[in-house]
Amino acid sequence: MFAEVILPLPLYSTFTYSIPADMRGDVGVGTRVLVQFGTRKFYTGIISSIHDSAPVGYEVKEISALLDSSPIVRYPQLRLWEWIASYYLCSPGEVYKAALPTGLKPESSTVVSLNPDFDLTELEGSLSETDASIIQLLDSEKKLSVGDIEKTIKSPNILTRLKPLLDRGVVEISEKIVERYAPKVEKMIALDAKRGDHDALHAMMDIVARSKRRERALIAYLDLSGWMQEQSPLREVTRQALIERSGATPAILKAMEEKGIFRFYKKVVNRFHSEVADLLPPASLSPAQEKAKAEILNAFRDRQVALLHGVTGSGKTEIYTHLIHTTLEAGRQVLFLVPEISLTTQLTDRLRKFFGERLLVYHSKFTDNERVDIWKRLLHSNDPLLILGARSSVFLPFANLGLVIVDEEHEASFKQYDPAPRYNARDTAIMLASMHGAKTLLGSATPAVDTYYKASEGKYGLITLSERFEGAELPEVETVDMRDQKKRKLNKGIFSAPLHLAVDTALKEKKQALLFQNRRGFAPFVVCDSCGWSPRCVNCDVSLVYHKYSDQLRCHYCGYAIPRPAVCPACGSNSVEVYGYGTERIAEETHLAFPEARVSRMDLDTTRNKNSYQEIIEEFASHDTDILVGTQMLSKGLDFGDVTVVGVLGADSLLNFPDFRSNERAFNMLEQVAGRAGRRAEKGRVVIQTSDPDNAVLAFVKAHDYQGFYRREIQSRRRLLYPPFSRIINIYLKNKDPHMAEEGARLMADALRNVFGARVLGPEKPFVSRIATWYLQSIMLKIEATASMTKVKHILRTLYESLARDRRIKSSIIYYDVDPS
Ligand code: ADP
Ligand code: ZN
Ligand code: ZN
Repeated sequence: MFAEVILPLPLYSTFTYSIPADMRGDVGVGTRVLVQFGTRKFYTGIISSIHDSAPVGYEVKEISALLDSSPIVRYPQLRLWEWIASYYLCSPGEVYKAALPTGLKPESSTVVSLNPDFDLTELEGSLSETDASIIQLLDSEKKLSVGDIEKTIKSPNILTRLKPLLDRGVVEISEKIVERYAPKVEKMIALDAKRGDHDALHAMMDIVARSKRRERALIAYLDLSGWMQEQSPLREVTRQALIERSGATPAILKAMEEKGIFRFYKKVVNRFHSEVADLLPPASLSPAQEKAKAEILNAFRDRQVALLHGVTGSGKTEIYTHLIHTTLEAGRQVLFLVPEISLTTQLTDRLRKFFGERLLVYHSKFTDNERVDIWKRLLHSNDPLLILGARSSVFLPFANLGLVIVDEEHEASFKQYDPAPRYNARDTAIMLASMHGAKTLLGSATPAVDTYYKASEGKYGLITLSERFEGAELPEVETVDMRDQKKRKLNKGIFSAPLHLAVDTALKEKKQALLFQNRRGFAPFVVCDSCGWSPRCVNCDVSLVYHKYSDQLRCHYCGYAIPRPAVCPACGSNSVEVYGYGTERIAEETHLAFPEARVSRMDLDTTRNKNSYQEIIEEFASHDTDILVGTQMLSKGLDFGDVTVVGVLGADSLLNFPDFRSNERAFNMLEQVAGRAGRRAEKGRVVIQTSDPDNAVLAFVKAHDYQGFYRREIQSRRRLLYPPFSRIINIYLKNKDPHMAEEGARLMADALRNVFGARVLGPEKPFVSRIATWYLQSIMLKIEATASMTKVKHILRTLYESLARDRRIKSSIIYYDVDPS
């Protein structure tokens, strides 16, 4: 018997090993095994199939050890991995690495320990010095990873040494899957007084009497905890519940703690048993929503995929909720995919009310423990569960998927760009659904041009919702010509007169504003005014961005950072200045322009911690902050009722991107940010600052005219033969030597042209042509939509193999980006 094993390597195949007789009863597809690769290395791999055809031409090695007693991935997952590897032109090992949470991944999970049943005295005298020290080490440390042993023993290739010890049964290798639940902690509040001590309580009453808000917080606490009903036990109060009941801000609670009234403490709660007393039934749908839902179900009768095109605020989420409910009731699982972690935050609260413990959330900000927990929960049950997650949740071990929802399906961030697998989670989700015989619902106010094309051609069902819920109006969009503002000296710092007025009015009416700038950091340009020196990354072909908080110049591609020089390193003058605006600076300027307002910021820099999204969003949702400044994270589906103004500080960088999708991206982004305004009764206002007010994309945004935009865009795609009328594969080549990169790319492009002719464009240097010390070259392959992609990919592989021995190719790394976004 033989097993095909997936190894975590960038090699385009699985590897064959023979199954030793004593393992035959236990091995299965989806179990992890330890195998020797080459003469020196061991890897943990995963069995993808079992067969009995012996490979010819080489001697097969045996599997060294079996790590699982039962599979850790399900059979359909392996089929999906295969599809991803072949469709996105990457190795099965790369998919395997992306799919498993780190805790289940080989490198971290192979642990060596002594076999307790082995009598060590048997070995006396027969051991080499190194072996003896390994055993000594294991005897004192009990369990160690291979890496740790290597470090301590200071000898490489420890694995080759372990193999004989393993064979003799001296040591054993086991999995280290984290079994423990990483506890979830809730912030609690208690009164810092003894119950029944009425004097103490009166003293507290006196302290808070001067502030209505503090008084309200105290009373709310007494009420929630049942403090005065001394015959019944005290109820614990969460900080959140107190905030909701009393309207107190975190600052008020903090002040009350300092006054000795409240005491904060933390309590461990079970993540899977969130305390939802009674589940609510989904809200009843409006007639328009009801109709849309019926149309979706109808479309699902003869189509696998349906597109729900509903304007922002039309209540798509409510429709999803109904469909989820029906699917769970029918005993099947649901995957709800969103492009941004910030969205899972807001949706979790919304969906928890209806689905309680059946809702599981999965994304990359979770700790590894938590992710392994969720993985195992799904692996060991067929329960109807709802999984809400970002991109990587397509890899979970679903058992019985009935419905996949992809919200904001147009989002480019569904596509993983680096590292491989460069997969699109939306398209992968469609594949996943079809493997389970499930349906996929795509939802967006601004569908991707490709998706809308498929829907209008009848490949997908198409359902349209053109009104906001309860007739709320779409916001009024106005563009401001920044050149004109400047000429007439109307700008107040970064704010044009109309935007300043709009924000000011909103604040006076106790409403909120969102300000959008598609760049993080403080200032994107740093220049010496005397000599023109400008700092650049040493590893990449980009300039460094100034971050004020850390007073550093940083590379946004590789993370390289240096302190801001006090004097110009080129000429020694002290005239190094910063130019341009990132979100950090916008937040600072906003603060100066509106000193009364509470300003917060959401971008990559402020959301590094797991809970920071939640904190920023909760603060804004409970109106503890008035203005939220942020990057495109703000544009994605967030639902805040009090936002009446949205400002786009600089639209120009969006409108002038050198790429065939730039119009689509700009329209989607602007229409989506605009959609965050006026989502309830009040009509919202959107102010877009630009130096190109006549841009055609802006006209469509002003009119909220998706159809008009689509018609124009699809014509130009047809004319220029861009997707959906063709399919694109970008081929990248990187090398540490710029000449080798260039020559390798030319060689590759010439070979491709022999086969594909004019369908090959390039090679050229990409926009950023050096990243993390690698020089990049790119070649674009544009294939007719009707051609067989399987054949194309086969040609690409053979072509690569035929060139692989050339030193220009051999010294380079080559990778593919299929359907780039
Ligand atoms: P979309 O996802 O289309 O942008 P949402 O689902 O967020 O829209 O709906 C916008 C707002 O209208 C939300 O606050 C939502 O709670 C409310 N809403 C939508 N449909 C209903 C409904 N049937 N009953 C009650 N509230 C609704
Ligand atoms: Zn860099
Ligand atoms: Zn200088």
